[in-house]
Amino acid sequence: MIHNITIQKVNQSRVSAIDFDNIPFGREFSDHMFEATYSDGKWHSCEIKPLERLSVHPAMLTLHYGQAIFEGMKATKHVDGRPLLFRPEMHAQRLNASARRMCMPDVPEELFLEALHKLVGIEQAWIPPQKGSALYIRPFMIATDEYIGVASSQSYKFIIICLPVGPYYDKAVKLKVERKYVRAVDGGVGEAKAAGNYAASLYPAKLAKEEGFDQVLWMDAHEFKYVQEVGTMNIFFVFKDKIVTPATEGTILKGITRNTLIKMMQSRGLAVEERKLSIDEIKSAYKNGNLVESFGAGTAAVVANVALIQDGDEKMTFDESNWELSRSLKREINEIRAGEIPDPHGWVIPVETAVYA
Ligand SMILES: *Cc1c(COP(=O)(O)O)cnc(C)c1O
Repeated sequence: MIHNITIQKVNQSRVSAIDFDNIPFGREFSDHMFEATYSDGKWHSCEIKPLERLSVHPAMLTLHYGQAIFEGMKATKHVDGRPLLFRPEMHAQRLNASARRMCMPDVPEELFLEALHKLVGIEQAWIPPQKGSALYIRPFMIATDEYIGVASSQSYKFIIICLPVGPYYDKAVKLKVERKYVRAVDGGVGEAKAAGNYAASLYPAKLAKEEGFDQVLWMDAHEFKYVQEVGTMNIFFVFKDKIVTPATEGTILKGITRNTLIKMMQSRGLAVEERKLSIDEIKSAYKNGNLVESFGAGTAAVVANVALIQDGDEKMTFDESNWELSRSLKREINEIRAGEIPDPHGWVIPVETAVYA
């Protein structure tokens, strides 16, 4: 035990009432939450307790000035039933990168990991056993000072909640090349998993949905020339002779799924280029028949194939039915997460109920 995390359990778990074959996405929460408080320059009062509402002052800084960041990750079950985490230390590090950008305190990596192991250990009955299903984990940090004034808070809460989720609806997505609104600019906060980024994306996403698209394909903010990413996914393009994904140079979120897929493809001897990729290069490859596959990558969907990329009236349509790469990558990731195949990179971390007990 590194931190003093107190544990108070529910008297009666709600898990037996959950139909794991039919989980409403994002609305079903597990029994417990983790909560830590930051004040006087340190994290303290770390507790796992029954999930409860927060009681907040109307002047709580987060509500007005938006100091709020989050992570999204999944716990799965090994075929033998043991709960597993996936690259949890990368999520801890990314949370802290977001925290620095938003002028919020670091969560010590050991505290993040200990809280995660303990909470998921307690909630392991909430991990759906079905392949492709998972316990979605949402760590987040909010500013809690009761103060009206633009300033960084002196006090914070770091909280983790968990939600069982079924296999993500994996119909291929239709993307609109966004030519008016932008997600991120150089020097902005696009690289942080900060709440405001998602609020800002809602209106362009709504317009795209009204036009029949599923999501927006974001372009760079200067020239509307270079592809960035999709809603909550990074994007890959498979050409006949190479695989390209936009380089994460400040405006693109550093997806852990993105990093995982790049390593998996490299292990297969495939060359992956991380660089600026213009929409014109994509269009000409499409016309020449050199663009073979395109897919998004993120924790929620894992791999989501692209059915359509539309720029104004110009349409690029794709038929995913014979795509080899995206299908095999998705299968491999899910098999690694179920412990069915070897994990040469050491990505899968068994939940240590003993070490952290
Ligand atoms: C979370 C997120 C991703 C995907 O990151 P993962 O670590 O793979 O889940 C990509 N883009 C944005 C904007 C995101 O918020």
